[in-house]
Amino acid sequence: MPDVLASKIAAGEVVQRPASVAKELMENALDAGAASVSLVVRKAGSELVQVVDDGCGMGPRDALACFGRHATSKLRQIEDLERLATLGFRGEALASIAAVAQVELRTRRVGDAVGTCVRVEGGRCVEERPCAAPPGTSVAVRNLFYNVPARRNFLKTPATEFKHLVETFQTQALSNPAAAFSLVHDDVEVYRLPGAPEGASFEEALARRLADLFGDQDPEKLVPVEETTSYLSVRGFVGRPEHAKRSRGDQFTFVNGRVVKSRALDHAVASAYGELLPEGRHPFFALFLAVDPRHVDVNVHPTKTEVKFDDERGVYGFIRAVVKKGLAEADLALPFAAGPATTAARVTLPASGFADAPGLPPLPDAPASVPGPAAVPPLRPARGEGDGASERPAPLPSGPIPSGNLRFPSRLTPVPEEEGAPEAGEQVGERTIWQLHNRYVLTPIATGLLVLDQQAAHERILYERALTAMEGGMAASQQLLFPHTLDVAPADAALLDELMEDLRALGFDLEKLSGRSVLVRGVPSEVRLGNERAILEDLLAQYRANREGFQLEGRENLARSLARRSAIKPGHPLKPDEARALIDQLFTCRMPYVDPGGRPTMVKLTVEELERRFSRGGG
Ligand code: ADP
Ligand code: MG
Repeated sequence: MPDVLASKIAAGEVVQRPASVAKELMENALDAGAASVSLVVRKAGSELVQVVDDGCGMGPRDALACFGRHATSKLRQIEDLERLATLGFRGEALASIAAVAQVELRTRRVGDAVGTCVRVEGGRCVEERPCAAPPGTSVAVRNLFYNVPARRNFLKTPATEFKHLVETFQTQALSNPAAAFSLVHDDVEVYRLPGAPEGASFEEALARRLADLFGDQDPEKLVPVEETTSYLSVRGFVGRPEHAKRSRGDQFTFVNGRVVKSRALDHAVASAYGELLPEGRHPFFALFLAVDPRHVDVNVHPTKTEVKFDDERGVYGFIRAVVKKGLAEADLALPFAAGPATTAARVTLPASGFADAPGLPPLPDAPASVPGPAAVPPLRPARGEGDGASERPAPLPSGPIPSGNLRFPSRLTPVPEEEGAPEAGEQVGERTIWQLHNRYVLTPIATGLLVLDQQAAHERILYERALTAMEGGMAASQQLLFPHTLDVAPADAALLDELMEDLRALGFDLEKLSGRSVLVRGVPSEVRLGNERAILEDLLAQYRANREGFQLEGRENLARSLARRSAIKPGHPLKPDEARALIDQLFTCRMPYVDPGGRPTMVKLTVEELERRFSRGGG
């Protein structure tokens, strides 16, 4: 087979579209130690894909040799062939690209007086001469597939090809957050990403790069993760759950600096979020793994970026645990200004809206004197307010929670002020609590104001309590004054048998009378008065709906169903001590920030945010 033909065939594997050219060239630039990489394209890459770097450059001999098949020079740097292959250095990218395009290489090593220019067209060298060139390398790839018309026709619309180019650019720019990158399309600068400043840590550089690339991924939306073992280290960021998207788009995994795809790893990350993620959402993440190349196989197919570890399960578990830990350590209370993810984040506070909380006096009017814009003091210790607070919203009485409509088993006592608070030490001494519109519970915290969605919060509490009850402890049960008999449909009768043990653990006191009727003597103590009769039927209906809608099984489903059915609803007025119990008990939960379905339970309005809003855009 003629060599040129062989090259053309091989090229088909490596080079599918302009973006694949960009990927190979940018990887080479980074391999060459570039601190700055520019990608220049014309006509979505079909006319030109050029990468200019300031890396180590090549001498005259290498400048020619690099177009040969298996031309990798990286053998010299990494003696071990096995390790070499696993890093994906196979020395065929340039050869493959040159077989199907017109390529011009200009390169110079720092120490050399002159550079070298080499032109290759359709795999044949058409020119080689010394030339002037800045240190580093420029590779310009023109008219991709000019000699393979079938493939050229196969390219998608310019918009699509450009989209692939941008994604490739973003991925490469992420893979090395310390280096500077730019992207120019048809003379228009699309991206200019500065390199990391001297002394910046990897995390700082990465956070900055993410912000520059994705704008909306500002550092507040990111949760850092980091862990090292002898086998594997991982660092990077995962997105806060409320920013998870419906599409899988922004998920980046790099192994030893190379971008890879791994469904197993994607899954490990998603599973670490567990119930934090609303159904059907995918988290953002950018994770950098470092592992001895001997333990990893980056598939030998030229463009496939699939990766296999020799200890797949170990890596899966490790990544999952690391992300879980990062999420657990993060303060996941939604900041007030956090995007449009939920309606809860869009609550606007009326001028005076606290009046309908039973038993609470109305809020004070606005302070009479407003400080000038130049002298906006930090809000918290403002004197007028401090005075007002002592006379107006009365601190709620402390002491044991009287049992009201909202029942909490007595073994769950309110937490001490410091413990389980939203942030350690965030509680302010005597706690002031308001209920807003019979829906939200508000309380000051050290950093501002915490707003709870009462239903979501209560669902979380009931859900965790139900799980605990089923896993071991017996839940408190309230005996019904008038036990009633429930006749169930045949399908429900079977379901009831299946769930009987767990239902009893939850606090249902049930007795099966015959095939289709059951005697209800007691219900869980959480069940609100007036709900006792219908609760079991409701629960079964909810259970079925959850099973069909969300494929939820077993205890998870049961716990969610009970929580959904017995939680207080919007419109339910809370007594002050009930509101307080709600807050206290929410913060004894394992995961206080979201309800069982993944919606937020709380939103935080910080003093900084208030300052920002009142400063009228100024400083
Ligand atoms: P590989 O990257 O797998 O080694 P390539 O075909 O991509 O194979 O590149 C072949 C060789 O050309 C590289 O090993 C390297 O020595 C040289 N090379 C390519 N691009 C550059 C560059 N931008 N700067 C310096 N050397 C380069
Ligand atoms: Mg390469």
